[in-house]
Amino acid sequence: MTRAAATPKKSKPEPRYLDIAPVLPLRRVFSYRVPGGVETPAAGSRVRIPFGSGTETGFVISVRSAGSLDPALRRQPNRIREIGEVLDPFPWLDASLLSLGRWIADYYGSSLGEALRAMVPVRPLIRPRAVPEIPEPEAAKIPRLTREQSLAMDELHPFLDKAAYASFLLHGTTGSGKTEIYLRSIEKVIARGKQAIVLVPEISLTPQMARRFRERLGTRVGIFHSGLSASERFGVWTAARKGDLSVVLGPRSAVFAPFSNLGLVILDEEHDSSYKQSEKPRYHARSVALMRARRAGVPVILGSATPSLESLHNVDKGKFRLLELPHRVAGGHRPRIEIVDLCGEEDGLFSLPLASALEECLARGEKAMLLLNRRGHSRLRLCASCGEVLKCSRCDISLTYHSGRNRLLCHYCGQERALPKACPECGKTKWNLSGLGIEQVEMDLKMRFPGYPVLRMDFDSTRKKGAHATILAEFSQPGPSLLLGTQMIAKGHHIPEVTLVGVISADTGLFLPDFRAAERSWQLLEQVSGRSGRGDLPGRVMIQTWHPEHRVLGSLSRDDASSFLEEELQERRQLAYPPWKKLSSLLVSAPQETLALRAAELLIQRFYEQWPRHRLDILGPVEALLPRLKGRFRQQILFKGNLSREQKAWFPETFSGIQKELRRSGALQLEIDVDPEALL
Ligand code: ADP
Ligand code: ZN
Repeated sequence: MTRAAATPKKSKPEPRYLDIAPVLPLRRVFSYRVPGGVETPAAGSRVRIPFGSGTETGFVISVRSAGSLDPALRRQPNRIREIGEVLDPFPWLDASLLSLGRWIADYYGSSLGEALRAMVPVRPLIRPRAVPEIPEPEAAKIPRLTREQSLAMDELHPFLDKAAYASFLLHGTTGSGKTEIYLRSIEKVIARGKQAIVLVPEISLTPQMARRFRERLGTRVGIFHSGLSASERFGVWTAARKGDLSVVLGPRSAVFAPFSNLGLVILDEEHDSSYKQSEKPRYHARSVALMRARRAGVPVILGSATPSLESLHNVDKGKFRLLELPHRVAGGHRPRIEIVDLCGEEDGLFSLPLASALEECLARGEKAMLLLNRRGHSRLRLCASCGEVLKCSRCDISLTYHSGRNRLLCHYCGQERALPKACPECGKTKWNLSGLGIEQVEMDLKMRFPGYPVLRMDFDSTRKKGAHATILAEFSQPGPSLLLGTQMIAKGHHIPEVTLVGVISADTGLFLPDFRAAERSWQLLEQVSGRSGRGDLPGRVMIQTWHPEHRVLGSLSRDDASSFLEEELQERRQLAYPPWKKLSSLLVSAPQETLALRAAELLIQRFYEQWPRHRLDILGPVEALLPRLKGRFRQQILFKGNLSREQKAWFPETFSGIQKELRRSGALQLEIDVDPEALL
């Protein structure tokens, strides 16, 4: 043995060490050893590791020899622990995805391990299946491009051909043929042996879109959505990793598809807020997509009928190239948009103009869609005698009555309770409804229009797998029908027989206490309007409101989006909001109000001490717009301006110091949200 060790080549292999980022809110990496007889897992693999007195999951960041270990560790090799089970059959993350993960951690203020966890699929409990079975689709007809589409393709071609980074904003009205541009671009890229990622908001991942991609691109399209089981998702990811797929189509997390030969990234409905992840790391898939494309040196196309102000601003600054498709392909006209003033109407649910338009539409054998952005039966249950409103005990938010379940539900924390017999305040037993919910409107519609199919699409009616498609299929049956829904109905659907779209109330969205309220309302109303008149018949849109003078509604009825967007941009500039200034939100929460406030104040005070020459605008701490949620009191601090990477990393560290100081480590929490989508 000693002799053999003298011949260097056949000697027992040099101990192998790994730098591992644990999936914990800790920023540094830790050194581990690979035990003898275990193959060294490559960088990007997940492993179990002993950590403290327990075990954790960690990501291998790099493999090193003893020579390159930290000298302090080299002197005491016994301090280095051994890894446990290797969890992945192969590394999901190559060097470029690992570096994307590092960017996410730095930019969004999370640890590396937490960022990487968001990039890989959950390991299924059962053995992963290969690619989900896909029936061989029928060959699709390929249309001749319109002039506008050809012009757009001409701009794209140089970047698709030689693969160079460039970002495009494809601003095309609904039905203008954006998807056709995506398909052509992907075909180009596939022909060169490259791969494409297509991101869509979850909700618009309609069966129609998936079918179209399959028909055109065949079985090399992997479709990734929340309806898949863990093992199906794992299967799609594995196929992408092995190169069996050329396209991955899916929501947010599809931006991390493990392609090694990426040629193109597409983000449809780029303005959609579902691209922002609401848990740590709170990344925005649009920013990540741009970063991934830039690192890979490939073009990225952001498409929308209602682009975000951020993207329009990037066009103004020359960062994005603008491609425009102002006209619908199928001819078809932009629907006429009418604003209906509810003031003076007897019925706040259906004004006379909307009621008669609905009647006429159905009588002609056509279809109508109605938007009501509210779940449940009715907003509030009021005590008829004292006016007491029932609220969630943990969130301080009024409860919504759901008649289907005959229960009260908190839409923030999900807590359910039975409707109390007597008012907790005065003991009387009569309840009134106030505010409208979608179930109430559905009942009303069924009574008004007996004999016509009335369908409802909202969170509650689409819980079951496939429910979404079933509702749409029923609504699309020939003949008159009505579809009532939340914002789910606004996106993506192409049902040519729809000639009327009604918005029951524009006001809920317009007056949300958020700086994006106007932009969001404009996007939603424009999108839902786009469902009307997509076929040969002219479309009509009616929007009910108590505030017909609101500039969002004015711009819609005059078909003048650009003046609204210009005004909105100028207003944001004056108030120093995005896209002019970066915004980051810090949320400190605790079970006691005083504790949350105290910790938030300390954090700010330390920030001023640490960074006396910062050039940020710091607002707060103030009570968050939802001051109490799930039993926790919430204090918000807003930062306008660019927080540096060091500052973002400084917050959690300093906060854990404050937790200890106040002796309330378990009770206090800090959440960082960089580029928040909403301040609620
Ligand atoms: P968008 O994605 O902008 O909503 P689509 O790409 O879905 O628009 O196009 C709308 C409809 O027009 C679809 O039914 C599509 O098949 C059809 N279409 C797109 N481009 C053309 C074209 N050049 N010629 C004929 N039909 C087209
Ligand atoms: Zn609640």
